[in-house]
Amino acid sequence: MHVLICGGGVIGTSIAYFLSLRSVKSTVIERTGVANAASGKSGGFLALDWCDGSPVEPLARRSFELHDELANSIDDAWGYRRLDTLNVVASTRRDVSAYRQLDSPDWLGRGAAVHTQLGSQSTTAQVDPAAFTKGMMRAAMKSGAQLLIGNVTGLTFKADGATVRGAMVDGREIAGDSVVIAMGPWSVLASQWLPLPAVYGLKGHSLVFQFEPPMMPHALFVELETESGGIASPEVIPRDDGTTYVCGLSSEAPLPVDPVHVVPDDGGCEELQAMTAAFAPQLGKAEVLAAQACYRPIVQDGLPLMGAVPGISGAYVATGHSVWGMLNGPATGEAMTELIIDGATRAVDISPFRPERLAPLEASDLHAEP
Ligand SMILES: Cc1cc2nc3c(=O)[nH]c(=O)nc-3n(C[C@H](O)[C@H](O)[C@H](O)COP(=O)(O)OP(=O)(O)OC[C@H]3O[C@@H](n4cnc5c(N)ncnc54)[C@H](O)[C@@H]3O)c2cc1C
Repeated sequence: MHVLICGGGVIGTSIAYFLSLRSVKSTVIERTGVANAASGKSGGFLALDWCDGSPVEPLARRSFELHDELANSIDDAWGYRRLDTLNVVASTRRDVSAYRQLDSPDWLGRGAAVHTQLGSQSTTAQVDPAAFTKGMMRAAMKSGAQLLIGNVTGLTFKADGATVRGAMVDGREIAGDSVVIAMGPWSVLASQWLPLPAVYGLKGHSLVFQFEPPMMPHALFVELETESGGIASPEVIPRDDGTTYVCGLSSEAPLPVDPVHVVPDDGGCEELQAMTAAFAPQLGKAEVLAAQACYRPIVQDGLPLMGAVPGISGAYVATGHSVWGMLNGPATGEAMTELIIDGATRAVDISPFRPERLAPLEASDLHAEP
């Protein structure tokens, strides 16, 4: 069996890794480079129980467990560690000290107060997302997976029109027995080739600072009251390489068809830096190593889109992981591998995510450039 995986983000590379554990050959076809989109620019924050109560709970719990196993079993480094997570209330307009229930790390400003502990080292963790995604690809390649840099522009089908034969990549056909669409928000392009619902991209900005908190690191989820009275929700994630990641400014900007054209909105990263300085002055003044933007994939009901494509033998989709793609990559890779090889999943029930729960997008609704 040869599985073609379209997209080299955390979802595509995790599927390649778990297929490689079952000695199934796969080729990851990636347009720009592994981890060049959201899977390289996200927070890499992981939580055991933050999806509890939703249909994603079993997937998230299994994936949190797998992250620990992968960090211990694969000889590679992607900055996996457990950490405590705090909720911080901050304002540029008023005194928030009444919200202080816990000691604040001393690098937070006077306009910030630690309100509650959201997670402990038993329930929250982190990875460097780019290093993790590339590490999954490297580990898969050690067991025979291949990486092809190329633009997937369509699928090919057997004479019955209902069985996948391969994918068109830069004008030539690559043959495969199965194809998985794992192109993050660009999975919307596959609605031209397969009966799939709409996938949207929601843009977020982020900064990587050269800053190491001078004490035990915590991830911070901040509720910041801005000058205008609005509430912003930046997230702060110190990494084990002496840098600190901050994200949080969303935007409505449309998804460019070519992932290399994803750039921050004018002024977006500057605004995020000013916000950071408002609750953590030392951090906000630190050197900025990366100022970037990316799109998280989401579908209409906010749940992942995972499973066999209805009516087309050999076609699968795995996307729509929204804000939890880094967390849920491993369990998605494991489940999609079971589905492709065994025809059913064992570790996690993915039926709540099946594509047919949503109406397919009509080709006439797509206005993408070729
Ligand atoms: C600001 C921000 C912070 C986040 N923080 C976290 C976090 O802390 N924890 C967490 O769990 N999740 C987080 N997420 C969500 C997470 O990053 C995403 O859910 C995840 O990266 C999606 O992975 P993916 O593989 O589906 O898509 P992507 O990473 O977008 O990968 C899709 C790949 O497909 C490729 N592609 C596109 N078109 C084609 C084509 N035609 N042919 C071939 N390849 C193509 C692209 O180049 C890209 O590499 C965050 C997201 C954002 C935006």
